[in-house]
Order: sequence, then C-alpha cells, then structure tokens
Amino acid sequence: MSHKLTVVIIEDEKNICTFIETTLANHDYKAVSAYTGKEGISCIASLCPDVVLLDLGLPDIDGIDVIRSVREFSSVPILVISARSEENEKVAALDAGADDYLVKPFGVMEMVSRVKAVLRRCRPQETGHVLSAGGISLDPERRTVTVEGQRVQLTYKEFELLTYFLENQGIALSREKILNSVWNYDYFGDARTIDTHVKKLRSKLGDKGEYIKTIWGMGYKFEV
Ligand code: CA
Repeated sequence: MSHKLTVVIIEDEKNICTFIETTLANHDYKAVSAYTGKEGISCIASLCPDVVLLDLGLPDIDGIDVIRSVREFSSVPILVISARSEENEKVAALDAGADDYLVKPFGVMEMVSRVKAVLRRCRPQETGHVLSAGGISLDPERRTVTVEGQRVQLTYKEFELLTYFLENQGIALSREKILNSVWNYDYFGDARTIDTHVKKLRSKLGDKGEYIKTIWGMGYKFEV
C-alpha cells in the first residue's frame, strides 16, 4: 500500500481549490482545501501535510500571518500562490518562512513541478544520518536539534541554515553562497536577511552560537 502525499490548499476561491485538488489528485496526491486562514492553520495542525499551497489574500487572516503562525509549530514546506506579484510581497512571504512563490495565474504543469521541487528540497535525502559537532546534534529525518542533549526549537530556515553550516564545517561561506544554497531559489532580497537568521540561530544555540563565526565583509564560517 503506497502512502499518498498530502497537500493542504488554503485558498478562498473555491473554483481554484477544486481545480488544484483535481490536478493534484491526477498526480496521485491527496489534496484537502481550507477556505480561510484559521481553517487552514488547524488543518495543518491536525493533518501534518507534506506540502501547503497558500493564497495570501484570505478573508480572515493575511497569508503572511498564516505563514508566521504555521512556522511556530511546523516546518512543512509552504508554496505561496498569489496574485500579488510585487517583489516586496515575495520577499515578505519568503522571509516569513515560505519556501517558494508562484504568481497567479499559473499553469498546471508549473504548479505540479513546483510542488515536486519543494518536496525534493525539503525532504531529508538520507535516513538516520545525524549531523553533529561540538555538542550540537541535528537529525535531518526527525528535524530535531539538540544542544548538549537539550532540545532546541528552530524555525524552518534556521534549521536549513544550521544543516548547511554543519555540512560545510571549517569552510568560509559567503552570504551569496548561503543564499543560493539554503534559500535555494532566485532570491533577490537583501543578503542581510541571512544576518538576521544567523543572529537568531546563534542566540538559540546559546554558548554554542559562537561556533558560527563572522567573516568580516564576506559571510560566515562554522568551526568548533
Ligand atoms: Ca484570495
């Protein structure tokens, strides 16, 4: 018996939901629609889906706030589907924790391939391969991080960032390189977005935060 991947669609236009549901069902996904932000958040909490498709213009809560709420309890990949095509809207969504952004109207094939791409990026490549250094331990499969055995809660991007650092220990990484590898799409936002994430990650790691060293004028290096 194969387990179908579950997609939660948060979109107030029911015809778009039906269209996406049908398309995804044809590609062997199980799709569930929610028509408001609140409904969507509780759907994510109860179903633990594999991917979320999220419209930003919702009747109750703005999509950006939905992303923020979801990120407090889940690292599920979020693909934004929105008519808002402004760069600052995209940056706001991505900074809030979205993983990709698709501008409406979009083609069916593109949507399906973006869903697949986001799943590929966000699913652990191997199982049971724990990364650790200097008392920090990261389990890519369970998506957990511990510092000296104590659980630390990271947001989706902080987790990805720490994974990248642990995989590239002792290597000087430029901000550009980090953006390309961790953010993983054509990101036109300010590279200082990384500084913000590093700052938060450092403080969550406590004493171990100092392993993330700043390389002045260039970027960062993780070294124990
Ligand atoms: Ca809408």
